Amino acid sequence: MKLLLVEDNADDVAFLGASLRRQQASDIELVHCRSLKEARELLGGGGFDVVLLDLHLPDARGMECVDGIQAVNQRAAVVALSGQDDEAFAVSILNKGVQDYLVKWEGQGRTILRSIRYAVERKRAELHLNYLAQFDPLTELGNRQYFQDQLRRATARARREGNRVALFFLDIDQFKMVNDTLGHQAGDQLLQEVAQRLGSQVRAGDVMARLGGDEFAILMEGVGTPVDAGTIAQQLLDVIEAPFTIDGHQVKVTTSIGITFYPSDNNDTVRLLKNADIAMYQAKDSGRNNFKFFTERMHTELVEYHELQRDIAEALRKQGFRLVFQPKVNLKTRKLQGLEALLRWDCPKRGPVSPARFIPVAEASGHIVPLGYWVLNSVCETIKAWEQAGLPLVPVSVNVSTRQFQQADFQRRVAGTLEQFEVAPELIELEMTEGLLMEDTDAAHRTLTGLKDLGLRIAIDDFGTGHSCLSYLRRFPIDVLKIDRSFVNEVGASEDSRIIIDAIISLARSLRLETVAEGVETNAQLDFLMERGCFIAQGFLFGMPMAAPQLEPLLNELMEGTALMRVPDFADPLRASGS
Ligand code: GH3
Ligand code: MG
Repeated sequence: MKLLLVEDNADDVAFLGASLRRQQASDIELVHCRSLKEARELLGGGGFDVVLLDLHLPDARGMECVDGIQAVNQRAAVVALSGQDDEAFAVSILNKGVQDYLVKWEGQGRTILRSIRYAVERKRAELHLNYLAQFDPLTELGNRQYFQDQLRRATARARREGNRVALFFLDIDQFKMVNDTLGHQAGDQLLQEVAQRLGSQVRAGDVMARLGGDEFAILMEGVGTPVDAGTIAQQLLDVIEAPFTIDGHQVKVTTSIGITFYPSDNNDTVRLLKNADIAMYQAKDSGRNNFKFFTERMHTELVEYHELQRDIAEALRKQGFRLVFQPKVNLKTRKLQGLEALLRWDCPKRGPVSPARFIPVAEASGHIVPLGYWVLNSVCETIKAWEQAGLPLVPVSVNVSTRQFQQADFQRRVAGTLEQFEVAPELIELEMTEGLLMEDTDAAHRTLTGLKDLGLRIAIDDFGTGHSCLSYLRRFPIDVLKIDRSFVNEVGASEDSRIIIDAIISLARSLRLETVAEGVETNAQLDFLMERGCFIAQGFLFGMPMAAPQLEPLLNELMEGTALMRVPDFADPLRASGS
């Protein structure tokens, strides 16, 4: 038995230790610590059967000590150690889930030992009862009470971490028919098999329960969008729809699923379950064997997503995308330093669709991969055409999404495209977000090194907005950090943004990387950047992104630095459409 003694008074420790030793309680392994903080660290790891807990600790008093312990460990029994003066309090905390209390210096070793052993037994019995009270014997899943309990915990965690939780409420369609035709026992067996199939669809950390009858519920943390939840719900429907064999009979059943989200739909856990139930009934009403979201808005979002995804696929097939080029300017020479290729989509049905709208959908659906290659192809084609027309050439940046970068043949395809159009690798800069480097560092490292060896330049886009882990910057062969537009936008308004920009510039300097500021719109921003040592910038201050035919006549002048003017603070209606 492993015992944790939490006691800061050395005399008390010596007394208790000696008392236990005199009882020759050789099965007790005693660990000692002096504060609640230490106790919580030790108990967080589990493995302790019982805690002897002083209620006067350097960092906590009374109930606080008990709460602090119970918050990190619900499995260990707790025996409180009280002084004589607070015996009444000690009695009162027995109601709070403490198994026993001892008044210090009073007990014989035997009394103390007995108290400890009883406390451990009592805790074990409590845990078992608790388990039974939360358990469905038929399916061996948790029951409704268990689910409510887990839902409360999950939502509390989600609140702390700013996460979302999806709740799926399932009810088998026409389940009574199975009972009526094959008998109650066959019904029971079907419920067990349904539980098993649903179980095969949940991941570690998800919570699943049988709420009663033919109702099941699943709760998934971190699933926050209708798109993700819709995909999961469809998988659940599919897995139940496959025929079961019960008692030698083939049985086919379907389910209806209601979905709701914490906290967007509601943040009351009882209400959440009711809402999911309501949504489930709507799924039944609209013909069964389908899923419904609790809020109409969620449904609309899902439908729109699928429509947009379809239109993106069509635009890919029909050459519906086009490129514009945004100049990157050297602030010292005023000359053109490079271009960034940006996607534009004029959808025949919707009109112009902002990249902020379609890129995330293309990413989620995987269309971003062919779209990314289309961009690279078009850029190489354009560069080749410029070269043949005798126009000056500058490096062109191409955005690469994580998904595209992670394709096993990414490097080979990039190399192939460069070769096909006979474009020098130095003329292509690949822009990726910092998240990409965090995802799969070893493979990412290999690919980036390969690209670098080919002679391409690598830029980190939107720098500073992600989980910037500065150490990876050293590990990867990067040439450029692009300071995210959100910081540049706020230069005038936010001291924090100025500090972040400063930090990025000095970090880049120490790693010998170039910095490029994105989204420069005002002269004030420009002055700030130059003063801090960032000498390459892009943004509306230097003109809107242009299609190749508009840009071509300007290229020579841009290279000379004569076409660029510092225009007064920009106020163009097109600004809203983003870059
Ligand atoms: P619906 O499509 O509207 O859901 O129709 P349904 O027949 O599935 O009806 P409902 O969900 O309302 O009822 C579920 C039935 O499941 C009610 C009850 O007869 C049966 N049932 C409840 N608990 C058990 C159980 O533990 N074992 C078995 N075999 N049947 C159960
Ligand atoms: Mg049913």
